[in-house]
Amino acid sequence: MNSNPPLTNVQARDLDAILHPYTPLHTLPQTGATVIDHGKGVYVYDTQGNEYIEGMSGLWCAGLGFGNEEMVEAATQQMRSLPYYHLFGGMGIEPAIELAEKLKELAPVPISKVFFTSSGSEANDTQVKLAWYYNNARGKPEKKKIISRIKAYHGVTIMSASLTGLPYNHKGFDLPIDRVVHTECPHYYRFGQDGESEADFVTRLATSLRELIEREGPDTIAAMIAEPVMGAGGVIVPPKGYFEAIQPILDEYDIYLIDDEVINGFGRTGNWWGSETLGMTPKTISAAKQLTSAYAPLGAVMLPEDIYQAFVDHSRQIGTFGHGFTYGGHPLGCALGVKAIEIYQKLDILSHVRSLIPVFEARMKKIADHPIVGEARYCGLMGGVELVADKATKQPFDASVGIGPKAATLARQNGAIFRAIGDTLAVCPPMIITAEELNALFDRMEKALDDTEFLAK
Ligand code: PLP
Repeated sequence: MNSNPPLTNVQARDLDAILHPYTPLHTLPQTGATVIDHGKGVYVYDTQGNEYIEGMSGLWCAGLGFGNEEMVEAATQQMRSLPYYHLFGGMGIEPAIELAEKLKELAPVPISKVFFTSSGSEANDTQVKLAWYYNNARGKPEKKKIISRIKAYHGVTIMSASLTGLPYNHKGFDLPIDRVVHTECPHYYRFGQDGESEADFVTRLATSLRELIEREGPDTIAAMIAEPVMGAGGVIVPPKGYFEAIQPILDEYDIYLIDDEVINGFGRTGNWWGSETLGMTPKTISAAKQLTSAYAPLGAVMLPEDIYQAFVDHSRQIGTFGHGFTYGGHPLGCALGVKAIEIYQKLDILSHVRSLIPVFEARMKKIADHPIVGEARYCGLMGGVELVADKATKQPFDASVGIGPKAATLARQNGAIFRAIGDTLAVCPPMIITAEELNALFDRMEKALDDTEFLAK
């Protein structure tokens, strides 16, 4: 029997017309969607007037929170002056130029050119096409495979979903396609072996990567893609020294590192880029999400000069560089990217995030002691709370219980939005959150965990 309240009119319309992404479609008819109506600061409100602290910045993206008037003004001005133009065939627009200049300035490694897309998936798809193109252009046509990692999340287009290392993105979709190989996930809590130190775990993963490369053939591998902190795989923070251990192996085999900063970028980890926090030295970078603080869709691929020059040479032979999206570099997205970065700088968002990290850390450490929490992991202002049936043995809850989604629902009933990734509750609040709001968010999480424990008994 369905003990849920009857659906409201707007929920019924939603159910009738929307195919919801990443949603258990078989149970949605019982609960209906939570239809969000408006937002202000770190709060969002549903159509029934309920208030929530948005503990996930939407989808790890609304770093400036909701209702920022400077962003609204920048959007309005851009829509009035030039609502659309493109960059094809040598055309240009000033917001795109300005944003590319800013990204070059902020980049953690030397960047020569920026290629704009509309999303993170398109950015990573582009990364792979560019890697193939680059290796054709430099006379290495066999060097095409991309290494990714189990539990990685790089998007949902055919190639970016193949890079993603999560079963529900592959099963039933006939993915991953070939040319993608997955290496181990750097999650010590889950994949560290009995008696193995973190340092030994890192050495084992580095050895395993080397073996994979040798097995596949180094001359067949173009690049490895990695998020500094893995986000949608469950907020997995690699152990100390992980990137320092794998990077020399990649260099040795002429395999370059693609840095997926789609979640980590623009201050989330306390630096502009997660690669700075985690000790990565990438050759190319993907960005999206907080690039515009999600006020408009935009993605970017940032490239060094030698890759760019290979395209120029190849374009000389072929006649053009044959890649581009209708909305890649859309004036609205670019104007909002410029404005978001300007606001981050004006607010000194890095100092703000760094000032909140001790609060975030203290609350996560407390949550780690909760009886149903196996691990509470974090980096900067992003965290993952993994729920387990048995703390001592790390035994997960039976999958049929769906404890993660249940905890997220209970949190919503307590006025906080988190995202359940399996049985991990992800937390990634807008970077503008105050210490007081952050504490309120964690109070609500603790209450939800108590309620979840009670339910699980
Ligand atoms: N890369 C990472 C690290 C992401 O977290 C995501 C989305 O969550 C993507 C790529 C895909 O971005 P989009 O959903 O904009 O296509």
